[in-house]
Amino acid sequence: MDFETQRENMVETQIKRRGIKNPRVLSAMLKIPRHVFVPSNFQKLAYSDQPLPIGEGQTISQPYMVALMTEALDPQPEDKILEIGTGSGYQSAILAELCRELYTVERIPQLTIRAQNILHDLGYENVFFRTGDGSQGWSEFAPYDKIIVTAGAPQIPQPLIQQLKEGGRMVIPVGSRFTQELKLITKREEDVEIENICGCVFVPLWGKYAWEEREE
Ligand code: SAM
Repeated sequence: MDFETQRENMVETQIKRRGIKNPRVLSAMLKIPRHVFVPSNFQKLAYSDQPLPIGEGQTISQPYMVALMTEALDPQPEDKILEIGTGSGYQSAILAELCRELYTVERIPQLTIRAQNILHDLGYENVFFRTGDGSQGWSEFAPYDKIIVTAGAPQIPQPLIQQLKEGGRMVIPVGSRFTQELKLITKREEDVEIENICGCVFVPLWGKYAWEEREE
């Protein structure tokens, strides 16, 4: 089966059937070629219902999780969004389709470079990359309409709350090193409303406002 047909099946069976409805999210998931974001030896599994290794001990998230987080974030065409954990760049491409500007931070330089090359080849010009500790956000371009964190944090990093616009939304997995709860945060007058979405399993968010960095 060609990749396009596999992608259509993925959207139908893994995403729509599990309740994702936002038509903009569905059309971005139909458009973005997930197989170009995974190493060549995993391409035949690119549209299966699972996270996959992308090198450096990191993973590209399960397609359903990408769709669920994107729908919860509710990106709008005029939004400026901050993403923490670029990884393969797949979630970045989905967001780049749906917002005005995406600022994305990754701590592993090799992954930043790899994602930057893939997004460049796909023609995205609204994505800005940085290698560094995303638990500190990216203050230079703050405030952001939306923030998405794609690694598991022990708590919501304070700088990310500060860099979110009033009324802005943040989606972030919070919990232990091994399992987390996916949370939707809405900023209200220096306070936050917190809604639990579902249980999830992400690689750790390392950094000053997250898990303590160590030699891996
Ligand atoms: N959204 C990505 C995708 O579509 O491929 C998957 C992200 S992967 C599950 C989590 C990423 O967060 C890893 O690439 C990891 O290196 C990165 N990460 C962990 N701690 C970080 C930090 N403090 N700042 C930026 N990136 C971090």
